[in-house]
Amino acid sequence: MDLAANLETIQQRVNAACNRANRAPESVTLQAVTKGQSAETIREASKLGLRLFGENKIQEAKIKIGQCPGNLRWHMIGHLQSNKCRDAVHFFEMIQSVDSLSLAEEINKWANKSAKTMPILLEVNIAGESSKFGYKPNQLLTELAQINALKKIEIHGLMTIAPWTPEPEKVRPIFQKLRQLKEQCDQILGAPLPHLSMGMSGDFEIAIEEGATIVRIGTALFGARARSKKQDEPANEI
Ligand SMILES: *Cc1c(COP(=O)(O)O)cnc(C)c1O
Repeated sequence: MDLAANLETIQQRVNAACNRANRAPESVTLQAVTKGQSAETIREASKLGLRLFGENKIQEAKIKIGQCPGNLRWHMIGHLQSNKCRDAVHFFEMIQSVDSLSLAEEINKWANKSAKTMPILLEVNIAGESSKFGYKPNQLLTELAQINALKKIEIHGLMTIAPWTPEPEKVRPIFQKLRQLKEQCDQILGAPLPHLSMGMSGDFEIAIEEGATIVRIGTALFGARARSKKQDEPANEI
């Protein structure tokens, strides 16, 4: 694996997608998804200038965050159980995977106890895949005001995982729907949410064309991961 070369290629592809969409390259943040990667690999990535990292399991993240000093920023991107909220609030700068009011309330409780405010994204299951976590769009619109009322939570935007497909063009409607849903949320909240976290190794260029502000990239940076449990992986093809 040549991390520097992979990063260079990805940055060029990000820039080209931004050009096509008339967007400033600075409006897209590349998030390195480091699940399954060693702390050494993460430190190497940070030396190349990567700052934002994503992990999807609390236990794994806790250990590696401790092994990676410096000004690295960490977001929780995997399904969060309520009994892990305390750690999630402690170890992460943002939780991207909030998918219920009860989870938001639990995060709010622990943020309050640690006297901090927790930035979150709301995860939406746009394609309605049974294998994935995330809000149904209507449910999100129903609960949005209640989540927004939680004092120690700050909603920064929406996140989605598109279905896996060998033809990324097929998932463009998923990204368009997330953007439209954000516009509906902006209306309800009376202010624009800054972030759309969408796009992964196979589809980030399309996501950028449709307005992604955070793209979460693992495989294209670090190479294929060792096989992990099905529920952690974007698996269903459309
Ligand atoms: C694993 C993962 C990614 C990265 O997937 P790649 O296809 O390896 O780029 C992005 N987002 C989430 C939530 C993930 O679990």
